[in-house]
Amino acid sequence: MTNYDISVIGGGPGGYVAAIKAAQMGAKTAIIEDGNIGGVCLNWGCIPTKTLLKSAKVYKYMMNSEKYGIDLENKSNVKINWENMKDRKNKVVSQLTGGVETLLKKNSVDIYNGFANIIDKNTIEVNNEKINTKNIIIATGSSPRLPDIPGFKESMEKGYIVTSKGVIDLDNLPKKLLILGGGVISVEFATLYNALGTEVTILHRSEKILRSLDDDISKKMNRILKKDGVKIVYNCDIQKIEDNKIMTIVKGKEKVFEGDKILTSIGRVPNLKGLENIDIKKYKKGIITDEYMRTNIDNIYAIGDVNGKYMLAHVASAEGISAVENILGEKSTINYNTVPSCIYSFPEIGVSGLTEKEAKEKGYDVITSTFPLAANGKALAEGETDGFIKIVSDDKYKEILGVHILAPTATDMIAEAVTTMELEGTAYELAKAIHPHPTLSETVMEAAHGIIDKPIHIFR
Ligand SMILES: Cc1cc2nc3c(=O)[nH]c(=O)nc-3n(C[C@H](O)[C@H](O)[C@H](O)COP(=O)(O)OP(=O)(O)OC[C@H]3O[C@@H](n4cnc5c(N)ncnc54)[C@H](O)[C@@H]3O)c2cc1C
Repeated sequence: MTNYDISVIGGGPGGYVAAIKAAQMGAKTAIIEDGNIGGVCLNWGCIPTKTLLKSAKVYKYMMNSEKYGIDLENKSNVKINWENMKDRKNKVVSQLTGGVETLLKKNSVDIYNGFANIIDKNTIEVNNEKINTKNIIIATGSSPRLPDIPGFKESMEKGYIVTSKGVIDLDNLPKKLLILGGGVISVEFATLYNALGTEVTILHRSEKILRSLDDDISKKMNRILKKDGVKIVYNCDIQKIEDNKIMTIVKGKEKVFEGDKILTSIGRVPNLKGLENIDIKKYKKGIITDEYMRTNIDNIYAIGDVNGKYMLAHVASAEGISAVENILGEKSTINYNTVPSCIYSFPEIGVSGLTEKEAKEKGYDVITSTFPLAANGKALAEGETDGFIKIVSDDKYKEILGVHILAPTATDMIAEAVTTMELEGTAYELAKAIHPHPTLSETVMEAAHGIIDKPIHIFR
C-alpha cells in the first residue's frame, strides 16, 4: 500500500491546484481523477466556452466591419466553420490539460486515473488498489441539476435536451436554441449562439435574469441581450416537455416554445459519490466546511464546487491552496467578501463586493458613482461604448465596498477592484493611482473621482 501525506480526489481547478501546492510545500501527494485532468473548468466550462466566444466575437466583428471602415463586399461569403471552431476549442483544451498534467508530474504528484472510493478516513480505493493517506482533500466538483419536469428525461434521452457539456459539441449549429434558466452560464451561451446567428430564447422562471447582480448592471444587460436579438421570457412556468417542444404557462397563459435544441442550465449539484463509507456532514449545497475548508472529520477537507460556497474556478483554486496550507500547519482562510464574479457576455461583466442594495441592507451610509464607457477615449477608439462602471462606497471614509463593471474587458478590469478591496482601499487611492492612458481602466479612476467629488471627463 502506498502512503501519502495528502490525497486529492478530483483533478479540477480545485484539486489540481491543491495537489501542486501540496507537493511544492513538500508533502507526498496523490491526485485521483476519474475523468479528465482539468475537471469541468478546463474541459467543458471556463476555457472551452471562452474559446468559442472568441470565435463568435471575430465573426461579429466581421459582420460589423464597416463600422471600422472595412468593406466586406459580400458578407454572405463569410461562413462560420463550426467544425473548425470546435477543433480550435479542442486544441486549446488539450494544450491546457496537457500542461497541467505535466505540471503535476514535474512536481512529483502521483496521478491515479480512476474513481476514488473513500474506505475510511485514511484509506482510499481506486482501481482495486488501496492507498493510505494522512489527509484527504475532496475536490469532486459538481454536475448539472436536472429538473423533475414531465418529459424532460425522455427528451434528453432523444438528444433534444443537452447540458452545458453537450452544447459545446453539437454536430451542427442549431437554428433555434431554447435555454432553461437565466443565470451566468445561460447568458454566456445565449451570447455565443446569438452571435453565431442562432435564434436564442431564454425561458426563465422569475421576473429577472442575472438576479444576483447589482440592479443597474442586470437591467442594462437585459436590454443589451434583447437589443442583440435574444428573446427572454420571464415568469415562465414549464409544465412539460415533449421532444423539442416546451409547454409553459407565462403570466397565466399557455405558451408553447419549440427549438432544435434545448439547453438546460438551472444550477448544479455537488458530486458526492464515493463518500458513502464516511459520516461526512452535508447540507443542500454540498459538504459542510469551516473557514479552514475542514469538514467534520478532522483530516478531511472539501474544496471547490463540492462544498457549495461558490461555484467558481478561481474560488476552487484559492480554497485548494488554503486547505493545503491548513493541513501543513498554517492558519489560512479566504476573504469571500471580495470574490470576483465574471460573465463573458458581449460586453463582459466583472463584479466584486457588495451591490448597492446589499451595502444599504448592511447599514452602510452608501454613496455610488458611475462612469460611462461613452466618455472614455479607448472605448471610443475601439468602437465599444456600451457599458459603464459603478462603484459602491461608504460615504464616511469612501472605502470601496463593491465595484460593478460592464465593459468589453470587464473580467480583466475587475482585478484592480479586488486588490483595492483586499487592501481595504478607498476611492482616494483609486483616484490617486495613475492609470495608463488610453485604457478602459481609466473609467475606474474616473468613477473614484466621482465618489470623492466629480469625474474629470464628464460634466455633472
Ligand atoms: C459552462 C460552464 C462555464 C463556466 N465558466 C466559468 C468561468 O468562466 N469562470 C469560473 O470561475 N467558473 C466557471 N465555471 C465554473 C467552474 O467550471 C467550476 O466552478 C470549477 O470547475 C469547479 O472546480 P472543482 O475543482 O471544484 O470541480 P470540477 O472542475 O467539477 O472537477 C471535479 C473533478 O473531480 C472528478 N471526480 C468527481 N468525483 C470523483 C471521484 N470519486 N473520484 C475521482 N474523480 C472524481 C471529476 O471527474 C472532475 O474532473 C463554469 C462552469 C460551466 C459548467
